[in-house]
Amino acid sequence: MAFESLSDRLQATMKRIRGRGKVSEADVKQMTREIRLALLEADVNFKVVKKFVKSIQERAVGQEVLKSLTPGQQVIKVVQEELTDLMGGTQTKINFALKPPTVLLFVGLQGAGKTTSAAKLAYYIRKTHNKNPLMIAADIYRPAAIKQLQTLGGQLNIPVFSLGDKVSPVEIVRQGMEQARANHHDLVLIDTAGRLHIDEGLMDELEQIKEVSHPDEVFLVVDAMTGQDAVNVATAFNDRLSLTGVVMTKLDGDTRGGAALSIRSVTGTPIKFVGMGEKMDALEPFHPDRMASRILGMGDVLSLIEKAQATIDEEKARDMQQKLLSVTFTLDDFLEQIGQVRNMGPLEDLLAMMPGANRFKGMKNMQVDEKKIDQIQAIIRSMTPGEKTDPDIINASRKKRIALGSGTSVADVNRLLKQFKDMKKMMKQFMGKGKKRNPFNLPF
Ligand code: GDP
Repeated sequence: MAFESLSDRLQATMKRIRGRGKVSEADVKQMTREIRLALLEADVNFKVVKKFVKSIQERAVGQEVLKSLTPGQQVIKVVQEELTDLMGGTQTKINFALKPPTVLLFVGLQGAGKTTSAAKLAYYIRKTHNKNPLMIAADIYRPAAIKQLQTLGGQLNIPVFSLGDKVSPVEIVRQGMEQARANHHDLVLIDTAGRLHIDEGLMDELEQIKEVSHPDEVFLVVDAMTGQDAVNVATAFNDRLSLTGVVMTKLDGDTRGGAALSIRSVTGTPIKFVGMGEKMDALEPFHPDRMASRILGMGDVLSLIEKAQATIDEEKARDMQQKLLSVTFTLDDFLEQIGQVRNMGPLEDLLAMMPGANRFKGMKNMQVDEKKIDQIQAIIRSMTPGEKTDPDIINASRKKRIALGSGTSVADVNRLLKQFKDMKKMMKQFMGKGKKRNPFNLPF
């Protein structure tokens, strides 16, 4: 997981100070020393670390904190706020053109994820803002880039403008823009070539592309795994092209986090989106405050809810809630619920967004056993409708049949039936106490 080691270290530091009824200047000093080391180890730019630690020190020994009734918690609040600030404060949104089309230019080194991110963002904006995008394939140097964009465009049903790899990128973009206007596209995304290193020829070409396309956003795509190097790349691109935003990719990998924490502070360019996987829906708007909370183990409940809203069919969810309230929740419903939660993405990622996930023993490094879930689905699918509605009728011989049909054992079937029973009992208690249903308390 990204930020894991940083997150662990900061949380250990915070834990020591959290419950304190009294915090001395020496305590703050000790804490900032630990934070400093944790950030340096996470490959955060040293100038950024210095500034960050200084502001925490100043604020934490200020009157408002040390004299407050809960100094430990106040100090943590300060750290959370400063971490949020470091990553840009509030979320920065896309700058849409007053007069369409809105043009987004993607630049960056080879392999950073430009082509993938351009397609992901086209898909995302079409969904969230109801736009009609056109993608322009202007990377004529990487052999497979044009084909890759065309394939993605085909999957997403988004048109791609290309003139092959024999025409200059500047000309491709010029003609692509004409086509966008002629066909009334209100959103244009331009995928450009990257090199392995920054080079003059590339920068000149990008400047010309910028001139002919008048982009509303110049997005630098950087790979979070490259750490400090991402910051150097951003500085070089920013000097020549005046970036307006960063798309940070591969945050699903186990990056230490240095790039994500330094880039805004060093270049002044905010991270606007983060890539969280190779799939087309694995792109999220970047919220500095939520990311800070996630790093400090306070969870990111808002993102979790948004994810749920985006993938779970609301009507079905309401229906499910009704069933739960009346306790007519069947194994069929259970099966559907598993499917819906699964659609939200890998369970490990969802767990990481829950508050205090790191604090639970055994949760950390826990590999959610997706195979077990396959097994549960297979077992339920092997039941007859009657059995699914009324599992009490499942006797020994039925269990044997179900186990055989699902390629599992009678013990597996028993375990599932018990889990389901326990879950229903728990739901009943939840309802009894008038509490809201927790949609994530699946028994695995
Ligand atoms: P380009 O050379 O900058 O156009 O890079 P590509 O878009 O071809 O991406 C390079 C590789 O990184 C591809 O295999 C992508 O699938 C992968 N990739 C891009 N974004 C992400 C991401 O957010 N997470 C992960 N895990 N892989 C990504």
